[in-house]
Amino acid sequence: MAHYCESFTEYKRLPTREVKVGNLTIGGNNPIRIQTMTTTDTKNTDETVAQTIRCIEAGAELVRITAPSKRDAENLREIKDRVRAQGYDTPLVADIHFTPNAAEIAARIVEKVRVNPGNYADKKKFLEKAYTDESYKVEIDRIRKKFTPLVKICKKHGTAMRIGTNHGSLSDRIMSRFGDTLKGMVESAMEFLRIARAEDFHQIILSMKASNPLIMVNAYRLLVKTMQEEFGECYPLHLGVTEAGDGEDGRIKSAMGLGTLLEDGIGDTIRISLTEDPEFEIPVCRDVVERYKKRASHKQPETNYEPAYDPLTYQRRATDVIQNIGGEKHPVVIADFSESKLTKENLKAIGYRYMEPQNNWMLNDCLADYVYTSGKYLPFNPPEELKVICDAQVYKNAPDKKNYFPLFTAETWLEKLDPASAKMNFISIDCKKLSEEQWSQLLTEENDTRIFCLFASGKDSMHAVREKINELWLKNLKIPVILCVESLDATIDKQLIHFASEAGALLLEGMGNGIWLKNHEDLLQNPKISGRTYLEMNDNNQFLNNTAFSILQASRTRITKTEYISCPACGRTLFDLQEVTEKIRERTYHLKGVKIGIMGCIVNGPGEMADADFGYVGSGPGKITLYKGKEVVKRNIPEATAVDELIVLLKENNVWIDPPHS
Ligand code: SF4
Repeated sequence: MAHYCESFTEYKRLPTREVKVGNLTIGGNNPIRIQTMTTTDTKNTDETVAQTIRCIEAGAELVRITAPSKRDAENLREIKDRVRAQGYDTPLVADIHFTPNAAEIAARIVEKVRVNPGNYADKKKFLEKAYTDESYKVEIDRIRKKFTPLVKICKKHGTAMRIGTNHGSLSDRIMSRFGDTLKGMVESAMEFLRIARAEDFHQIILSMKASNPLIMVNAYRLLVKTMQEEFGECYPLHLGVTEAGDGEDGRIKSAMGLGTLLEDGIGDTIRISLTEDPEFEIPVCRDVVERYKKRASHKQPETNYEPAYDPLTYQRRATDVIQNIGGEKHPVVIADFSESKLTKENLKAIGYRYMEPQNNWMLNDCLADYVYTSGKYLPFNPPEELKVICDAQVYKNAPDKKNYFPLFTAETWLEKLDPASAKMNFISIDCKKLSEEQWSQLLTEENDTRIFCLFASGKDSMHAVREKINELWLKNLKIPVILCVESLDATIDKQLIHFASEAGALLLEGMGNGIWLKNHEDLLQNPKISGRTYLEMNDNNQFLNNTAFSILQASRTRITKTEYISCPACGRTLFDLQEVTEKIRERTYHLKGVKIGIMGCIVNGPGEMADADFGYVGSGPGKITLYKGKEVVKRNIPEATAVDELIVLLKENNVWIDPPHS
């Protein structure tokens, strides 16, 4: 394997070891398994059993339950017996942080234990220490002594294990030795994996979660590469984006991280962590996995894809600047109004609100930059910020050549029958159907007004577009590229997953100077996202516009909203996460670019919220501790006033602005 995956040009599953978790086999050629985690107090047997069964009925193939103390771990016996007595044999997983003794109890009861290598043998004190090779080795021996008993218990009882690294909870040792790096994340797991292998224990699954999809994707890739180089084989991988949040943003962030890796054939089991009830995670997982079920039989002709970039380090492809597209400019959003009525009122869906009495436009933060009208003209003057793309055949009669730009197909561009713009021309290219001859004609032509709008349909369409952009990159051709993604899916959930996986995978590789999303409203059977409805999307154009901006936000290529890093909740959670997240969102939704962590407990919360600017963390029943970065600024304040106190903190730090229309 030259890089981190089997193929860059088609979906090919990464071969991994098979691991038995109770009656379930994970890895190898087995289906990608789906799982979730309970949010109840593990000592509350009735509630935990009931929620576990709801998750199983919803389709979970594994259910994880937190075991923060010996008492919780011991209660897993009762929980498991009652779940089994009701006829469910789904494997249960104990989630362990900081408590090896709880892990050693749980490993004798449930089918799998998850340990966090960042805190299994270490307490987090945020201390920096210089290690020599010798003193580092002493540390590894200390971990070996703490971890080996668990490995032996797992081996004896046939219990599987997940070594689950989280970006936000790397140990002080790892942070001191490797810094906050991908290598640090990978080494954190490798230290434990080497110890387990030395005991000839291989029932292991690994994960590299982070709340930032870019970090998460690259950490998994580096882990695959490291395992291949060191052991010549890979252990199965559990994929997840932590603290993704809820609603469409949570789904987009998760689908982008998971989808990017799954497109490359990486991933044997997945969890979508949403700040919603755990059973609502399952349909989203199922939709994600569904995309890959039918791929296995597919076979593209092999090509010699050699990345022009380092796939483990983010680097944006250098392009020319044409008008407001390309170079260092943020990716633009193109709204497709080819099937919509062109009225002033309809532009509200893409961020432009027409104020009739004043005869002017009010703008919001998620403003589409271009509207595509196909063969029509706008029957009014567009707002200054909005440019219009129309088909090349009608461009010659466009009312205003300053604001209108033509869209050609590759054929019509090469035929040169229709007049081009002197400033900017969009060329739509089907990456699978374009002939080699046409492509090389386009590449050899000298014209610096061209923007390529690349798309492909069917299986492996992301791969086909990536191959074309990589070729431009290799040949140092600086033509800006718009990523065009069309969804034929029948539900909003599936569309979100499709858009986020296809466009997200390319944005995370530094490709794309804009996105253009298209769907078919008439195909939609269910206009709501699964679980509770976060956004009532009655307007399809608004849905596509919001999705485009959410994808750019999740890839951190264009920030237009507040970012919420909220944990999915578990048995440790000290307040109603969904309610509080909603309350905080209502007050802070307009703080563009501010990252707010909302975490259920102080044990893991401060570490897990990683790069949040401000944190709202449960520190006891009815008590909240507020953070600025990693620093505590208000400790144990009453929950009743905590959201108000958070707003005060934002104001004190000059990140507050009054909401629009307040
Ligand atoms: S941060 Fe949230 S999900 Fe993580 S352990 Fe604490 S309460 Fe559970």
